[in-house]
Amino acid sequence: MTTAALPESEERVLSTLNADGSRRWLRPRLSPGRFLSARRILAWILIAVFTLLPYLRINGKPAILLDILHRRFTLFGTTFLPTDTVLLALLVIGLVVSIFFVTAVFGRVWCGYACPQTVYMEFVYRPLERLFDGPPRAGGRPGRKQTGLRTAVKYAVFLVVSMYLAHTFLAYFVGVEALRQWIFASPFEHPTSFLVMAATTGLMLFDFAYFREQTCIVACPYGRLQSVLVDRDSLIISYDPKRGEPRGRGRRDAGVALGDCVDCYLCVETCPTGIDIRDGLRMECVGCAQCIDACDAVMERIGRPRGLIRYGSQATIAGEAGRVARPRIFIYSTVLLVITALFIVALSRKGVVDVTLLRGLGAPFVELPNGEISNPVRVKIMNRLDQPASFRVEVGAGTPARLEIDEDPMMVPAGTAVTKGFLVLTPASVFTNGKRDIVVRVTGAGETKELNYRLLGPITVGGREPQ
Ligand code: SF4
Ligand code: SF4
Repeated sequence: MTTAALPESEERVLSTLNADGSRRWLRPRLSPGRFLSARRILAWILIAVFTLLPYLRINGKPAILLDILHRRFTLFGTTFLPTDTVLLALLVIGLVVSIFFVTAVFGRVWCGYACPQTVYMEFVYRPLERLFDGPPRAGGRPGRKQTGLRTAVKYAVFLVVSMYLAHTFLAYFVGVEALRQWIFASPFEHPTSFLVMAATTGLMLFDFAYFREQTCIVACPYGRLQSVLVDRDSLIISYDPKRGEPRGRGRRDAGVALGDCVDCYLCVETCPTGIDIRDGLRMECVGCAQCIDACDAVMERIGRPRGLIRYGSQATIAGEAGRVARPRIFIYSTVLLVITALFIVALSRKGVVDVTLLRGLGAPFVELPNGEISNPVRVKIMNRLDQPASFRVEVGAGTPARLEIDEDPMMVPAGTAVTKGFLVLTPASVFTNGKRDIVVRVTGAGETKELNYRLLGPITVGGREPQ
């Protein structure tokens, strides 16, 4: 880890690399201001929400539980199972279109204000680092001499915070009850769970103590998509070159035609991704508004109006009229409305039981010695309730058939699907052209499902099978 003086921006491939390819270690200066205050308040609210959400229960279920192992996803009291294909597809498509919509209108507001990477990095790890290393000095140098002991204590604190974060993160996937067991049981009793916890803690520590802003710059797919998601009217943070240029440190009252930018470099030194906003819109900009706070303070000191760096759009900064209504906003919002309506309808029609009839394995039908035709059928019953339920399978009234089923009623555990085979026995005379449609009724968990099923049988000609 080295701390380098700021190289010329044109020499860099990445803002986190020095010209020789070594890591450029960033220690951004803190720039107090209205946006930092707002972000700090929001960050602490979000940290509380991230921490408490796994403990919150709605309708007796966790508010959020993404149980990947058992393929059950609980969101705000509703559990989605792998069979909820339409609902899950609508949810994912809705999420993607929402991201497109929010980014097209508000740019990277998520990255700067609400992304857990930004929230924990800027409002937990960096403040802790400043506590140990002192406020950074010009050029990103630590404010205090780094001693071995102080560095060791700093990383020990980072480790404790990373453990807390890893446990919070895992609670979303395994639930707080399982997590409590993992924490209080000996690692030897559950080595796999212990390894998962240790690996997650290690990843958190690696991310926040070492990898840091590179997660946003090189690893995050959302960051990489920015160039296609924003347009000239999307909200961005931008430097106003018409007002700022020509930049310079000379006296503005000495007859020199200088713009408002005094080239103090504070907007660069405060940037958590190490870029110079004056170079124009950059993919590395996470929209944190620290450069606005830094520059506003400078403008106030030199008696110039705030806003040399400000929220705007590429169009408004260029002096054009901004547009809120534009084709992509109309398309995204229309698609989002349609998906939301479809989701609400599909959710309201979702019952507690799913039943599917499948053809049995082996021969499609068998002619029994007593002349009856036997069709093997399988029934798959999904019980969405939180308790086991029993189900009866019958043929519909008036159907000339009887069932042979081993388990009647069938028990289906909570939140699982069970597939059982049974036989449908019919006289050979009920078939027309080798087919007969029947109704199969499944009753249980307070619901009755009636499904059409086509039996197969011999093709008879004049009451005899063709030779
Ligand atoms: S903080 Fe403002 S005045 Fe200073 S270099 Fe940046 S844009 Fe120029
Ligand atoms: S350029 Fe400004 S808004 Fe963008 S990441 Fe840097 S400090 Fe934040």
